[in-house]
Amino acid sequence: MAVIRDVMPAFELLQPTSIADAQKLLLQHGQDAWVMAGGMDSFDWLKDRIKKPKVVVDLSGIKELKGIRPTSDGIEIGAMTTLTEVVNHPTVKQKYGLLAQGVELVASPQIRNQGTLGGNVTQDARCWYYRGGWPCYRAGGNICYADTPQGRNREHAILHAERCVAVNPSDSAPALIALDAKFVILTAKGERVVQAEDYFIGPDIDITRLHILEPGELLTSIRIPSTWAGAKFYFEKIRDRNVWDFALLNVASALVTSGNGTIERIRIAVNGAAARPLRLKAVEDAVRGKLPNAETGEMAGQLAVQGAVALQFNAYKIPLMRNLVKRAIGGVKEATWAS
Ligand SMILES: Cc1cc2nc3c(=O)[nH]c(=O)nc-3n(C[C@H](O)[C@H](O)[C@H](O)COP(=O)(O)OP(=O)(O)OC[C@H]3O[C@@H](n4cnc5c(N)ncnc54)[C@H](O)[C@@H]3O)c2cc1C
Ligand code: SF4
Repeated sequence: MAVIRDVMPAFELLQPTSIADAQKLLLQHGQDAWVMAGGMDSFDWLKDRIKKPKVVVDLSGIKELKGIRPTSDGIEIGAMTTLTEVVNHPTVKQKYGLLAQGVELVASPQIRNQGTLGGNVTQDARCWYYRGGWPCYRAGGNICYADTPQGRNREHAILHAERCVAVNPSDSAPALIALDAKFVILTAKGERVVQAEDYFIGPDIDITRLHILEPGELLTSIRIPSTWAGAKFYFEKIRDRNVWDFALLNVASALVTSGNGTIERIRIAVNGAAARPLRLKAVEDAVRGKLPNAETGEMAGQLAVQGAVALQFNAYKIPLMRNLVKRAIGGVKEATWAS
């Protein structure tokens, strides 16, 4: 299908300076409105003329949505804080280095300077067909072009696929899940706080979006409690090129050992395997009380890929995920990220 890339269709640009005004505008315009954060995902859709909102609500003038603040139990990161600010923040580096590691591997420095944490966790799927304007299930049609014998599905899902086999592309998401982050959402009824892992949804819940936000709702901040501050962290991202490339798979883990060296507490999440980042609860339960060594890692890796189903061109993802999980548990690095 040809994609026209000439002039962006016209829309009304609204630039509120407070969260309250932004919400008012979003509720007023409902389905016609598009939330604009850093624009790194948004502008692709608009320039390719695939999404044609009547109104764009630009959040860049809202100071309340920016910055990283201490809370009584950790930190709160405004949704409009740039990825570069997250990576460079001293408290993030010292206590929540897992997030700094994941975010520093996002795209390129230019994209991290402009892209925001809120946008990174709310960005849309990167499936070629969907981005190119093909009328697939996710776009409201009744076919998946990727899940065919000739489909380009090397980057696609191996777990929890249902009609759509696209994956969630965020590198910050698994780190936030492993850190037990809470996402603060402003709804028409007031503030709602959800666990990081509950912010993301698969096609079984809604095939048209990767997150729980309804039209009119705003992600305002992300809170990270001190639960995992200073734990041993592991983040690994596998991609075709070492810069400016989305993950084929990534893994994030936070681990605390007891006096005898066994695993006392652990959180582990993987992205790029399904339409939502996956917290591996069965793995967490299975390794608790065991030594974080190669044997435990091997067992964990096998468990992590149970039920995985390969498409025509992505069978490599099954051993890759098994090995990433194995390394995240058996080869957990000390928290050396802090400078
Ligand atoms: C070439 C390229 C390479 C990339 N590589 C990577 C990569 O390797 N890893 C990775 O994780 N990401 C990657 N990205 C994605 C990039 O990091 C995201 O596009 C960016 O983080 C989105 O953030 P943004 O602030 O630009 O949001 P926008 O593009 O403005 O918004 C993204 C989406 O989120 C919605 N949204 C944003 N903020 C809010 C909010 N506060 N409340 C409600 N809805 C909101 C918008 O409506 C939109 O649908 C890449 C992007 C590009 C263009
Ligand atoms: S994987 Fe999902 S987004 Fe891609 S073509 Fe299939 S239905 Fe569309």
